Amino acid sequence: MKKIISLLLLLLFSFSAMFSFWGCNERKNHTTHSKTVSNVYFNTVTLISTYGNVSKAKFDEYVKITDEMFDYYHKLFDIYYEYAGVNNIRTINRNAGKTPVEVDEELIDFLLYCKELYTLTKGKTNIMFGSVLKIWHDAREEADKFGGYLEASMLPTAEELSKAAEHTSIDSLVIDKENKTVYITDPDASIDVGAIAKGYAAQKLADKLKSMGADSMAINAGGNIVTIGVKPDGSNWVTGITNPDKTAENSLICKVEIGEIALVTSGNYERYFICDNVKYNHIIDPKTLMPANYFASVSIFAKNSGMADALSTALFCMSYEEGLAVIKEIGGIEVLWIDKDGNMTYTDGLKDVIKNV
Ligand code: ADP
Ligand code: MG
Repeated sequence: MKKIISLLLLLLFSFSAMFSFWGCNERKNHTTHSKTVSNVYFNTVTLISTYGNVSKAKFDEYVKITDEMFDYYHKLFDIYYEYAGVNNIRTINRNAGKTPVEVDEELIDFLLYCKELYTLTKGKTNIMFGSVLKIWHDAREEADKFGGYLEASMLPTAEELSKAAEHTSIDSLVIDKENKTVYITDPDASIDVGAIAKGYAAQKLADKLKSMGADSMAINAGGNIVTIGVKPDGSNWVTGITNPDKTAENSLICKVEIGEIALVTSGNYERYFICDNVKYNHIIDPKTLMPANYFASVSIFAKNSGMADALSTALFCMSYEEGLAVIKEIGGIEVLWIDKDGNMTYTDGLKDVIKNV
């Protein structure tokens, strides 16, 4: 499902007729290259596209770097598997309450940033929420066996959820930057970076590609979009925002015209199960311990994709007013909220950005 959405988004990157999906194309000295790098990293499709005069050799370099970086971050941030020669989040979780784990500086910096984001989002995006998220994840997996439907008797109970929630303190994550170790003091607590990892990795990649000379480029990591520069003719990129209503005729609710920006959407239509005609999505409100129920989707426009990813999850878990307060404090963030009836509300900065489909 997510892959389809990503591909749709990708198709919409108004590339004009010269765009060729899987290969390279040349017209008017503007060479466009586009490639799906992998559908393994972060369990989603990652696609990079360059515009303007970029040689095939240069593009191949970009592809190689993308592959290397995403492979690295995917392994570093994995909560389910460990890999030879690297201590990752799974290693840290496995040693909760036992021993500090030595990790790469990259992981230290990422986890410190996640702690910062916890504070900025008023605790709504909490990477120490693993114990609660696991309960919902297991329920979703169970539902998957039955076509996405869960029997009411299998729903997580309030008791088990609140018991798990006792083990979600951000302070149980102890990061020692000097000794490069990470330790979870609570043996029943665990890290889940699903809300931030993809966006963070996409930003790191964009920074790297930019340093290699990329000046007109789009990265789409499973719907986390990061653009570098603008189109070669100086015009903005145009991409679509998915219509949360999957029964609607148009799969997009609107288009947006963007310059160099990170754009991340969290929605209730991507991963969910149904129980007694109620939809249970995969973003859990730390206050209620239940799937967040404020909006159908929230899209964040920000300079940094890691920040955008964390905020999309956080603002999905709070009211419009609370969301506004959070972004006001941070500054430089624009938001598009879509409610469950398909009504759009957005910050002033998006007035000339949002276009009809
Ligand atoms: P997606 O992964 O679909 O792009 P998000 O960026 O909103 O969407 O991340 C959702 C993922 O984040 C969930 O699958 C789960 O792993 C994790 N998550 C859900 N709720 C929270 C929360 N309140 N705080 C931190 N992580 C969360
Ligand atoms: Mg997110």
